[in-house]
Amino acid sequence: MNKLEARKLETIPILNLANEIDELWEEITSAIQDVLRTGTFIMGKNVQAFEQEAAEYLGVKHAISLNSGTDALVLGLIAAGVGPGDEVITTSFTFFATAEAISHVKAKPVFVDIDPLTMNIDPSQIESVITKNTKAIIPVHLFGQAADMGKILEISAKYDLKVIEDVAQAFGGKYLGANLGTIGDIGCYSFFPSKNLGAYGDGGLLTTNDDGIAEVVRMLRVHGSRKKYYNELIGYNSRLDEMQAAILRVKLPYLDEWNKKRQSVAGYYNEMLQHVHGVSSPFKAPYADHVYHQYTVRIAEGRRDYVHQALKEQGIGTMVYYPTPVHKLPVYAHLRYDLPQTSRASEEVISLPIWPQIKRDTLETVVATLNTILQSTYV
Ligand SMILES: *Cc1c(COP(=O)(O)O)cnc(C)c1O
Repeated sequence: MNKLEARKLETIPILNLANEIDELWEEITSAIQDVLRTGTFIMGKNVQAFEQEAAEYLGVKHAISLNSGTDALVLGLIAAGVGPGDEVITTSFTFFATAEAISHVKAKPVFVDIDPLTMNIDPSQIESVITKNTKAIIPVHLFGQAADMGKILEISAKYDLKVIEDVAQAFGGKYLGANLGTIGDIGCYSFFPSKNLGAYGDGGLLTTNDDGIAEVVRMLRVHGSRKKYYNELIGYNSRLDEMQAAILRVKLPYLDEWNKKRQSVAGYYNEMLQHVHGVSSPFKAPYADHVYHQYTVRIAEGRRDYVHQALKEQGIGTMVYYPTPVHKLPVYAHLRYDLPQTSRASEEVISLPIWPQIKRDTLETVVATLNTILQSTYV
């Protein structure tokens, strides 16, 4: 049997949460049992404690838990005063929710192209799209790597714009030592299970140092009320539940160790991929402490889709984040943006298996299989 045939015996997922659940089994099940015993499932002591622990971890005044990262973006935009007729500048190379949130508050998403190296929003293209209607910028720290916050803050200060960081993929990531999500006016995090800090269900968090924004978000998540049954705003039902808060409290103390392990997995991939022709490793910006929510490589010259399919046939799970840039999705295609770097990235990217507990021999198998597949395309 050659190596490729042997691979069919074992499948490698892009993310294996079972390792983490095994590791934390006792702690997680006892935390869940505690919630069951207290009988409080909404807005109890775990939610309160988790918010305090997250605020301490991030070094931010307010950490407000919500039911998803998407809601964090929507509530953040409302609290930042963004509404009908306003424009919000963001990247098209992101998960749909970033732009969707802007549309939800009836503002208009304005897309700018990405820096081809970091694949994050290119700050040098922001100023040219600012109009009198521009209210905010949403940089996304894609795949776990900081956007170029220094330049973004310079522009936001000059034009008096709010900065809402989309930190859904980068809990614990840093920009020049500062925690992502605490640099702009608002940080929006997601605890979707696959994120680098994930719950075992939906969840989200909004952070801010602004007391006024915090107060509005705390009201919005409970139907616009400060006091029960005394509603002052049209709000939402957007709470993190006690089970998820209890699970996140178990997981948060492990996050730094897990992010470090992700970094060493990335280092190992980088080293091995140097010897593989036709693939480029992710670029790490000097200002970023990249937490590798995804380890995303690029395969150029039209080979990506073939490699993606061939890896799948060999039992190796990879994902294309994102195959269609947001500006080309059916709901936004009519805006007719032309963003060449974004389009090119969407044709070349592929994310390889990564999780903190992934084994060296698994990484070797992924790289060897990728190498065999890629080289077969060059003969
Ligand atoms: C996951 C994600 C979101 C949305 O988070 P949910 O918790 O799934 O609502 C928003 N932006 C980005 C970049 C994401 O990756």
